[in-house]
Amino acid sequence: MKFHSTFSEITYIVRPQDIEIKAGRPTTTKGLRAEFHKGRFNSESAQKSLGWTEEDRETVEKYLVAHVDHGKSLSVMDIKAIADEAETQQVCLAMYVVAGESQSCGRPCTGDFCPEHAAEFVEEEETASV
Ligand SMILES: [Zn+2]
Repeated sequence: MKFHSTFSEITYIVRPQDIEIKAGRPTTTKGLRAEFHKGRFNSESAQKSLGWTEEDRETVEKYLVAHVDHGKSLSVMDIKAIADEAETQQVCLAMYVVAGESQSCGRPCTGDFCPEHAAEFVEEEETASV
């Protein structure tokens, strides 16, 4: 699960490191923390690099989702969010007629037209002005 924070560097202590007495000996239990770098935190990556169990990862994810910051400075970058981003991406507005039906190019682009159509329109304008 990917998380985003408006704070670039923030650490959420999910479970503090603790010392438990087990069988008469102090045993340190690993703490769980979600460390954001550049506003990003990926629980799957953290699980791999920090050797978390599935349970550890889920504990962290649940903690962040339930956190008071969630919906404010903290948000989940789930698959849906990525899909929404893709939908709002600009597409080429060029229209052309194929077999009597007008079709739109619809190629993803940064301006109003894809590089191919942008070049075509520039050419047409130049020809018209001559
Ligand atoms: Zn195009």
